[in-house]
Parts: sequence; C-alpha cells; structure tokens
Amino acid sequence: MSQLLSVLREDLGDMLREDEATRAAQRADAWVMAEWAALQGRGGALPLAVLEPTSTEDVARAVRVCRALAVPLVTRGGGSGVCGGVQPGTDHVVLSTRRLDGLVGLESDDLLARFGAGTMGSDAEQCVQQEGLTIGHWPQSIALSTVGGWVATRAAGQFSTAYGNIEDVVLALEAVLPDGSVLRTRETPRASAGPDLRQLFLGSEGTLGVITEVTFSLRPLPETSSGQALHFADFETGLAALRRVLRAGWRPPVVRLYDAREARRSFRDFVPRDRALLLLLHEGPAPAVASEAPAVEALCREGGGVVTDPAAVSQWLAHRNQVPSFRSFLEEGVVVDTIEVAATWSRLPSVYASVVASLGEVPGILAATAHASHAYRSGANLYFSFAAKPSEPQQIPAVYAECWRRTMEATLAAGGGIAHHHGVGRVRRGWLAQELGTTGAGLLLALKDTLDPAGLLNPGVLLPPR
Ligand SMILES: Cc1cc2nc3c(=O)[nH]c(=O)nc-3n(C[C@H](O)[C@H](O)[C@H](O)COP(=O)(O)OP(=O)(O)OC[C@H]3O[C@@H](n4cnc5c(N)ncnc54)[C@H](O)[C@@H]3O)c2cc1C
Repeated sequence: MSQLLSVLREDLGDMLREDEATRAAQRADAWVMAEWAALQGRGGALPLAVLEPTSTEDVARAVRVCRALAVPLVTRGGGSGVCGGVQPGTDHVVLSTRRLDGLVGLESDDLLARFGAGTMGSDAEQCVQQEGLTIGHWPQSIALSTVGGWVATRAAGQFSTAYGNIEDVVLALEAVLPDGSVLRTRETPRASAGPDLRQLFLGSEGTLGVITEVTFSLRPLPETSSGQALHFADFETGLAALRRVLRAGWRPPVVRLYDAREARRSFRDFVPRDRALLLLLHEGPAPAVASEAPAVEALCREGGGVVTDPAAVSQWLAHRNQVPSFRSFLEEGVVVDTIEVAATWSRLPSVYASVVASLGEVPGILAATAHASHAYRSGANLYFSFAAKPSEPQQIPAVYAECWRRTMEATLAAGGGIAHHHGVGRVRRGWLAQELGTTGAGLLLALKDTLDPAGLLNPGVLLPPR
C-alpha cells in the first residue's frame, strides 16, 4: 500500500490528500445504512487517499494514473446520495469533484449556463437567478448536492411536472472516460446525429466516467405563481383527478398528492381526517397562471376534490427542504427511509396498495405511507416512507433490507419501475436486471466492460458485482 501511495504522490501529489480527516469525510454518502454503521462505531472503510482535481485535465490525469496502477476510483460530489453510491474500500481512491466548482460560462440570449460538475446546486441556481434566470431543477437536497451528482443519479426536482427532470434541463456535458479521454457533447438545442451520448452519463453513478462540466438550458424566472390545495376521499380518487389534469394538457410545476396518513402527519390544519391532500403550484407568465389555476381546480372538483386553504402550499414551500436526520431515529432504535418508484396511471393504485400492504406485514413496522410528487402524461411516481422499530436494535439492518425487498418485489409484480429518482447505488442493484430485462442488463454490462474492462470505476455500484 505504501508503495502505491508513493507512486500516487509522485504522479498526482498536487491533488492528493492523505490526512485522516479528509479521508473520513469522503468515505460515505447519506445512505441510512452508512449512518447506521457510523452509529455502531463502524464508520466505513477509510479510502487510501482523496484526489481533489481542479480542472478537467487534472481529472483525466487522475483517471489515467489510477487505471495504470489498477486502483479503483470512486467519484464523490456532495455525498447526498441515499442509495450507497459512495462506499470506497481501503484500497480505493475517492475523487472529490468539489473543486471543479463554479460558473464556466453563461449565455443569456441562448439561455445556457455551464458549470463545473462539483458546483453545489444551490450555488448554481443562485448564480443564474442573479441574471433573472433559473435552472428550474429543485431537488430537496439542492443545498447538499452537486450538479454533476444530479446528472450521475438522474435526479428529479420538485418543480418537475412543468420543467422536467435533470435529463430535460441538461443540454450538454463533459466527461472523462475510464481511459482518460475527454468527451464533450455539442451545445445544440437538438440533434439527429445518432444516439444521444448524454444519456450514457445520466444515471451512470460514477461507473462509466467522471462528469466534469454540465451545461443547463435555463428559463426566465416566472412572472407570478399561485398555490392551490384540495382534498379527496382517498389517494386513488386523488390520483384519478391528477391524471385528468395532466391528460387535459395542464402542467402545474408542483403537484403533490399525499395519502391520508401523510396528509394528517404534515398538514393536519388543512385536511379532515382520512382524506388525501393535493397541493398544486402554478407559475409562469401571469395570463398562463390565470387560465391554468381555475381550469385545474374545475377538473379536480369534477373528480371529487374539495378546495381547502392554499396556505397549505405556503407551508410546504417554507419547509420543503427540511428533513429530520436518519441518525436521530436510529438513536431511538427506529429505522426510517424513503423509496421512490414509478408506474403508469392504470398501475399506480395497485402498486400503492400492494407495497403499503406488504410493508404492513414487516415485524416492527410503525408506518408505511406514500405521496406522488412528480406527474407525467402517462403516470407518476410514488414516494413511499417507512418507519420500523424491531424488538432489538441489532435487527435494524435485516428489517431495513426486508422493507426494501418487499417494496421492490411488490412494485415489479404490479408492473411498476423500481426507481424514480434516487438511483440504484448498492441498495437497488439486486433488482436492476429485472428492471432492465436480461438483454438490457447485458447491454449495460457490455458497455461497462468496453469502457472500463478492469471495472475500476465505482465498483459495486449500479451493476451487480461479478
Ligand atoms: C435530504 C435529501 C433530500 C433529497 N432530495 C432529492 C430530490 O428531491 N431529488 C433527487 O433526485 N434526489 C434527492 N436526494 C438524493 C441526492 O441528493 C441526489 O441523488 C443527488 O443528485 C446526489 O448528488 P451528490 O452531488 O450529492 O452526489 P453523491 O452522493 O456524491 O454521488 C451520488 C452518485 O453519483 C456519482 N457521482 C457524483 N458526482 C459525479 C460526477 N461528477 N461524475 C460521475 N459520477 C458522479 C457517485 O459516484 C455516486 O454513485 C436527496 C437526498 C437527501 C439526503
């Protein structure tokens, strides 16, 4: 190991960090099982070293040196991933993107902004807002995650129903491939020039290369916005009303339908007991908002919705990025996590019912609830939350794994897709072959083998280990 380190020092000394504090800070993401290990005093392996490149050329050099030395390389952005995507071994090097930071170029006429991949999401958004523009991508973790991490995990923002998800706002990107060569996709509004190579990196989770720059297609800040809230007899009735809204062509940026238990938990002042709650936020040019809000309300009322105080939307807006820490629950012997899946409108009710029922059978389960927070013409996501308190805290990992297994299997059996926006990491990789199918999984493995034959980039993530 020390021989390896001395070669790394020689070739990459300008960006190499070996101190324990830096290695400890970069050894995990925000996966609840990493938190559990830390609480048990087993905070995960310390990587051999951390690399902090400041340019694409540095990244290319780092990748080439690690390849020549056969050292596994784990890319880390903000470390806010919740699926175990960053978990280096003691013989791995972590490449932190955090110093690939800041605005590279802004072309206001073309509504384009190019950022270093390690720029924090909130810094990128603040930067374009100074020009009266927005990226329009608002994950709850906007202040914890990097723009490169958004691309690597195929992230979704809270305003996605109108503005789309990360794949809709990334116009171009730059990435260092596993052999150290640099790929730059062209900045054109659309191309019919073969497969879209951006897609290789959207959702690649550090396994196919290191994303070094991201170009966003921006939009002007909205002129006005307006909130709306309605409650429904149950979640299924709310889903049916939401489907009608999307089908009619309306696209409120924020649509959030909570089942009765979540509505009661978070919005009890706005919703009677046992009713589902729909929050809507309209924004854009004033005439568009003026026509969308009443039309959507009329469709929801026809679908059984009862109008309630729009202050529910203001409450959500004020608290939307606050989350309790996993650790505080774990300290009480309770494991809490969220699992997001997706399905077409016709399958959503059975995915919802079968996952909630299956989670309800887990020993020690305290709650299994859901909301839908991203809607499309053909379907929506379901964002399940579960909390379980096993009789012995040491059973937490097994109970946690059981909750995941049941959610994945019930979703697949009901025809849903296993991941809407958190990615695969380690926690979902066992189900990826079922999601992609044998041919799809084989194609992904073939791509990985071609680009990274020694499997050095983020081993153990996304693809099942060999
Ligand atoms: C409180 C909280 C709220 C969240 N809310 C949302 C939400 O609303 N929407 C959503 O989509 N997600 C959400 N997430 C999940 C997480 O924030 C996203 O997955 C985010 O995109 C991860 O970005 P990151 O920079 O933190 O990546 P990291 O956690 O550092 O890495 C995630 C994965 O991407 C890879 N990676 C990171 N950067 C690069 C790069 N430059 N090149 C190649 N690979 C890279 C890593 O190797 C790893 O596999 C939330 C997480 C938390 C903790």
